[in-house]
Amino acid sequence: MTRALLQAIAQFAIHAAVLGAGFVLVFYSAALPPSLAGLQVYGPYILFVVGAALAIGFGRGRVVLALAVLAAAYGVQQLWLQEGLGTFPARAIYAALTVLVPLNLALIAVLPERGTFNRHGAARLAVLLAQAAFIAWVIAASQTEITDWAYQKFLDPSPFGAARMPQLGIASFAASLLIALIATLVTRSAISASMAGAIAAFAVAAHVVTASATFSIFTAAAELMVTIGVLQDTFRMAFRDELTGLPSRRALNERLMSLPRAYTVAMVDVDHFKQFNDTYGHDLGDQVLKMVASHIARVGGGGKAFRYGGEEFTVLFPGIGIREAIAHLEALRKIIESYQVAVRAADRPRKSKSGKRQPGGWRGRDSVSVTVSIGVAECNERLTTPQAVIQAADRALYRAKEKGRNQLSR
Ligand code: GH3
Ligand code: MG
Ligand code: MG
Repeated sequence: MTRALLQAIAQFAIHAAVLGAGFVLVFYSAALPPSLAGLQVYGPYILFVVGAALAIGFGRGRVVLALAVLAAAYGVQQLWLQEGLGTFPARAIYAALTVLVPLNLALIAVLPERGTFNRHGAARLAVLLAQAAFIAWVIAASQTEITDWAYQKFLDPSPFGAARMPQLGIASFAASLLIALIATLVTRSAISASMAGAIAAFAVAAHVVTASATFSIFTAAAELMVTIGVLQDTFRMAFRDELTGLPSRRALNERLMSLPRAYTVAMVDVDHFKQFNDTYGHDLGDQVLKMVASHIARVGGGGKAFRYGGEEFTVLFPGIGIREAIAHLEALRKIIESYQVAVRAADRPRKSKSGKRQPGGWRGRDSVSVTVSIGVAECNERLTTPQAVIQAADRALYRAKEKGRNQLSR
């Protein structure tokens, strides 16, 4: 749990840095040379185009929508809010920006990814356009009651002092931020985290809405954050295994390039796993793989676990000799052997097809267990490359299987 919390906090570090950079830029933007003034005016549009192109290319429709919301907010501010909030249309638009933009970003943080150019993307875009149409109607039909309602003081006297933002907008920002933070904790999605960052950045922008340069900087910061979210999400897809959450084979290959002089490698393979799948089905098989992976990830001796592929895992022990590694791996083998996975009634086959005793002696019980075989090898004069050490560990694994499984061999 604490690890999950730390990971979540780490996800926000880069967004905090972008927000901080926004404040630095505000202090120094007066000193921008005239040749760069255009960047301030067109920056949010440029970031929209670049970010949306990236998000479309990477199949991240949620980010395309978030960028569209932010770019539209910027365009509206440029067209109608620079002169202040005195007029009725400006008042109505400002209320809409403060209430709807954060809510839409929070919704995007919660929704599953469904791509861009398909019926899901079209339906989501239609929801955004419906909101725009509603605001246009409020203005065109001079719906002052709706606007006054949005601006009313729900709390009087206001705890926010003389803040210009309607209380409804402040509440919307707070609730939206909370929703996005919870979505990040639950899904661990980098894109959800970036939505939380974007809500915070746009809150600053909305607060200074008539100061165009500052509004531009913080809207751009929000756009940058969600674009960074795409990159982080893609990075994780490349280097993390989705099922187990362990680093993937690709991550292993990179780590192999930077090993210290002494190290030990273990290959861990689940015993009779094909049979396990055949008996209990793939879903329970997946659940067991997750369980096995979580135990391997916590192996002692600084062992670093990777999913090599299928039901095979690799553990690297940088700077550790084979004897010490074996002690930790034996402990791991015993933990997995004794760990019972609960089987719900629906998971249990009504009748054993073969009638034979199945792995782990599961029959008639409400829980099952699996075992693993482990092959270990260390780097030495004979095995000088990581590939050679891995192959030796693989041969040792084969011997452990030959000798009857649920054991370690070197
Ligand atoms: P052995 O004891 O010799 O290792 O036997 P085994 O059945 O484990 O070996 P084999 O390599 O023949 O089978 C591996 C099986 O692992 C095949 C496949 O059904 C299963 N498997 C691989 N990846 C996954 C996965 O992601 N989920 C599930 N549920 N099963 C998987
Ligand atoms: Mg196996
Ligand atoms: Mg295997």
